[in-house]
Amino acid sequence: MSNSDYSFRRIFELEACTSCRICADVCPAVKATGNGNLSGMYRLTQLRRILRSRTALWRRLFRFRDLAPSEWKDFSQTVFKCTLCGACQEVCPSGIHLKELWLQIRQDLNHSLYYPEKIDTIRENLDESHNVFGEDNEERSDWVEECQDEPEDRFCKNSADIVYFTGCVSSFYPLAQQIPVALADIFQLAGVDFTLLGEDEWCCGFPLLGAGLDELAGNFIDHNMMSVNQKGAGTVVFSCPSCYRMWQEHYPYQGKFSISHTTEFLLKLVKENSLKFKDSPLKVTYHDPCDLGRGAREFENARMLIKSIPGVELVEMENNRENCCCCGGGGNLEMIDPELSSKITEQKIKEITATGAQAVVTSCQQCVRTITTWVRRNEVPLQVYDITRFVRKALVQ
Ligand code: SF4
Ligand code: SF4
Repeated sequence: MSNSDYSFRRIFELEACTSCRICADVCPAVKATGNGNLSGMYRLTQLRRILRSRTALWRRLFRFRDLAPSEWKDFSQTVFKCTLCGACQEVCPSGIHLKELWLQIRQDLNHSLYYPEKIDTIRENLDESHNVFGEDNEERSDWVEECQDEPEDRFCKNSADIVYFTGCVSSFYPLAQQIPVALADIFQLAGVDFTLLGEDEWCCGFPLLGAGLDELAGNFIDHNMMSVNQKGAGTVVFSCPSCYRMWQEHYPYQGKFSISHTTEFLLKLVKENSLKFKDSPLKVTYHDPCDLGRGAREFENARMLIKSIPGVELVEMENNRENCCCCGGGGNLEMIDPELSSKITEQKIKEITATGAQAVVTSCQQCVRTITTWVRRNEVPLQVYDITRFVRKALVQ
């Protein structure tokens, strides 16, 4: 472990914390458990202690000692029991880049013995199979078989205007596969010239960053850039907010092609009159995915899309847009502590049902997965849609 895992700016920012506790008040993990040790404030206090204990001068002057192994273990647990939702960063009055710090601490812990075993699984799956589930990557576009008319080319062309980057969860997880099936349908109805990358699509690398394994992401970035470039496309469309955010922040795509999340791309199709809706009376609320909302600052495209469907009534949750509460599915938390993830989802369901909506719409396969799983297990009468499926359902054909 070393202080070099932290940028100088982030170390400097640590001193700006005033212990105001505002980050703890909005943290979904703290709210779900009542455990203040899961808060950003606690984590910063421990981190300051760790960094000082590694500095010879501080050790001599103030007798700072390194954490004992049991303290390291406890600290590691609080670090990985975080959904990386960014709600703490949004409200911190001192402007500390907390989310970036949480990622840097994970990286630091991965250079030590104190990280969860599941991190090794993520590393091995991605290394061997190029997808987060450890599945055969040749099966990445097998969801095409679920389409009404499976085309001979399985939507895999040598070149096209649009590349649809499906992402690991929507490619392999059965419940989420409904999203690419719906999007392929919409593209066909609107006459969009698109292609998939098939087995040449590798994980975007986002789970590696979330696991603190940044140094392994470069290989995935280079490969995906090469695969997209070979198709000669002008735009890459993503239905996964985390893939989209990863490309936005870490891929050198500028000047080569543009990137677009489905919320933006589908709204463009609506504005061009390429999609025709039927009357679809339903009271819905919208859940902002953390990476699309607080991450990419895209709040309105999805809402405009929903409002463009005749008969749909959109009602807001108490916490919406930049204050939206996480669904519990981020930061690899579901793999590391499924019980905590589920408790966070339970809070989310309470906020959704308080609106009186018949359905919740979101723009992320992971949010759909966590919310749907909870709703089914607990027999809550609530419909759950990704925006793509919601749009498809409302189309005339
Ligand atoms: S990122 Fe979210 S879960 Fe993690 S500490 Fe901040 S508010 Fe809590
Ligand atoms: S909100 Fe910011 S300043 Fe306040 S306790 Fe949290 S990290 Fe410190």
